[in-house]
Amino acid sequence: RVVVLGSLNTDLVVRCAELPAPGQTVAGRSVAEFGGGKGANQAVAAALAGGDVAMVGAVGEDAASGRLVDGLVRRGVDCGAVVRRAGTRGGTAVITVDDRGQNSIVVVPGANGTVGPADVAAAEATIAAADVLLVQLEIPVDAVLAGVAAAKRAGVRVIFDPAPAVAGLPDELFAVDLLCPNETEAAILSGLPVKSPEDAERAADRLRERGATRVAVTLGDAGTLLCDAAGARLIPPFPVIAVDTTAAGDAFAGALAVRWAATDDLDAAVRFANAAGALAASAAGAQDSMATAADIHALMAD
Ligand code: ADP
Repeated sequence: RVVVLGSLNTDLVVRCAELPAPGQTVAGRSVAEFGGGKGANQAVAAALAGGDVAMVGAVGEDAASGRLVDGLVRRGVDCGAVVRRAGTRGGTAVITVDDRGQNSIVVVPGANGTVGPADVAAAEATIAAADVLLVQLEIPVDAVLAGVAAAKRAGVRVIFDPAPAVAGLPDELFAVDLLCPNETEAAILSGLPVKSPEDAERAADRLRERGATRVAVTLGDAGTLLCDAAGARLIPPFPVIAVDTTAAGDAFAGALAVRWAATDDLDAAVRFANAAGALAASAAGAQDSMATAADIHALMAD
């Protein structure tokens, strides 16, 4: 079983010809609502990839929060440990996209910003029953730390996707079983430039010195560099025609957690996750672009 501790957002996507300048009002073309948030995206990715998945987090009292949870439940995610926080709205991202595909985004954390150690304590039994706990950084760091500590107490493996990355994270957060940054995040966390697989290896070594047992740096269409006590190796990508790379990293993390929970073979799990990331990059949207286990196996068998 995989437990995801993290964020749930409603993404409101507004389309218009040109993004408004400050003070300007423009006519939009459409508004659409999608489920989002790194935590929820990864939970959906994990469930569709074949996992038994539970989500720990918080939504608000607004109607959109209800639809968000319904969407997760429909895709097979157990939301029994998702709190409906009184007096809050759920996390909301307002995403404005123009005809050239440029966007501007405002994210309001809402209920995600209220997740704390008490919520993690209330979900302790859920976390302790997991094979893998998957965490990111869209909820307060003290909640993430409490989750990592709860998993360690119970002997549960932790995967930490350090997104969105910030410098100055506490050392305890690096001491996880598997850290899976993308190139940008690896650079911020290590303080080293990451522009090539060689750079990624140096950054991964630095992150292992800080306490991570294993590091998987995702390199977009170049695949994933995996580093552990056995050394560094590039796990190759699956070539696809990229349409929208939004949430490729979330698809990767969710699929990785499921596969690593089911087998101890991390190289094979990264290969499976690379296929899930490639499929997400080849379809539009976030939760709607996540691949099923059948799709992933089909791409791997090609
Ligand atoms: P993020 O979305 O966090 O920046 P990446 O872009 O590195 O993450 O994507 C995560 C994984 O998804 C990559 O390691 C790779 O395996 C796969 N992936 C992403 N984009 C592509 C692509 N254009 N072609 C093939 N695989 C991709």
